[in-house]
Amino acid sequence: MINWNKYLNREIVCSCGKKHQCNIKHVDIGFNVIKKLADYVQEEKFKNICIVADKHTIKIAGEKVYTALKKIGISYNEYIFTDEELIPNELNLGKIFTHIPVDCDFIIAIGSGVINDLVRFVSKKIYIPYAIVATAPSMDGYASAVSPLIIDGFKVTYEGLGFPWAIIGDVDILKDAPVNMIASGVGDIFGKYVCLVEWKLSHIVNNEYYCPEIEKLMRRAVDIVAKAADHGIAERDPQAIASVMEGLIWAGIGISYCGNSRPASGCEHQMGHFWEMMFLQNYHRHDIEHGTFVGIATIVALYVYKEAVNILEVNNNLPTILFDKEKWEKMIVDVYGKCSCSIIDLENKVHKNDSQKAVVRIRNVLSNKMQIIKLIKSLPDINIMIKRMKKVQEPFLPRQIGITPQLLRDTIIYAKEMRNRYGVLQLLFDCGKLEEAADKVCREIDMLSESNIGK
Ligand SMILES: [Zn+2]
Ligand SMILES: [Zn+2]
Repeated sequence: MINWNKYLNREIVCSCGKKHQCNIKHVDIGFNVIKKLADYVQEEKFKNICIVADKHTIKIAGEKVYTALKKIGISYNEYIFTDEELIPNELNLGKIFTHIPVDCDFIIAIGSGVINDLVRFVSKKIYIPYAIVATAPSMDGYASAVSPLIIDGFKVTYEGLGFPWAIIGDVDILKDAPVNMIASGVGDIFGKYVCLVEWKLSHIVNNEYYCPEIEKLMRRAVDIVAKAADHGIAERDPQAIASVMEGLIWAGIGISYCGNSRPASGCEHQMGHFWEMMFLQNYHRHDIEHGTFVGIATIVALYVYKEAVNILEVNNNLPTILFDKEKWEKMIVDVYGKCSCSIIDLENKVHKNDSQKAVVRIRNVLSNKMQIIKLIKSLPDINIMIKRMKKVQEPFLPRQIGITPQLLRDTIIYAKEMRNRYGVLQLLFDCGKLEEAADKVCREIDMLSESNIGK
């Protein structure tokens, strides 16, 4: 059992020179931990509790929460969404604002990603703390301070909203979560293999802040989940399922320690977000779990990195491309459609593709080539990863969720434009090899079949 108190609500002076902190009052992952909620409520003297859940999550964990509260004689109000599939949009935020009693002093959210994102937003706006009783280990947003919401039909991530006051992961509940949600959590965690390497890559190339202690914490959690994927998750072994939930919490703690999402999000998240955005914009689809996108993007990223090594190994010199802004803008409008304005605005603000900057970066890549190749080669073997994902029934091929070859190609080439964050995609872009690499990766992925690999 992890002693979370060692890592939370305190300043940790680190060898990286920074002081790390993550202020989540309570994290409890284990059997029957819901009853701890009652102790916390008593300790803080919360009086007017409002439970927010949907019709599925209340069935899963409602009884346990009611029993815990009744034991200490606390009454509560509740708002239960009746939607078949709950969407984190303005309407549903409005419903919580409408139904929450004016004297409420504590919210207990019961659910996973969507409920947590909605309640986090409301909690911040009305200055009332909330606890999340997790119903599935499905994504790494429990211990985060951001809420991705769908506003005016677009995905908008609201940052700096604050952490839940308590995160309760009752293993009895988590182990019975739907297969696709557990697989999504595993996919989200597997992405960390990529983003940790990418963080170090940017440290080498751009001297970006990097903390080996955070990396160690994250890597340990990811390795435990990898082992659990090999043995235990598919069998619903409670300890294996708990390790997924713990890994997801570590991701949040890592982000908080770092001060940005570097330890938990790299090009695999950029590509995953790109798909989320495109699915929503082009097909109004929001039925795929965040971690499912990330898991598939992790496999794509591993292929891209493999190609980057090939390029680095055969080229002693890499000329920098001249950035053709006009041509680039046309492509961005084509690919991003309605969302292209914010992408172009970002480039106008940060000039990440500026040729002068690329020259410096490529020079640093070449002078640290051997170290970078060694770093990339530390990534896990693609076949082993696929085998693990298959074992937990996590999709690993883009086409399994309806990503076309054209969309995959666009993803590899344009997903990096969503953020100003250096990684392998920018490295390949800087030396004019991104399109060539994308074509090669698309061909390799096209040749993979669902049945005859990873065995
Ligand atoms: Zn540190
Ligand atoms: Zn994630």
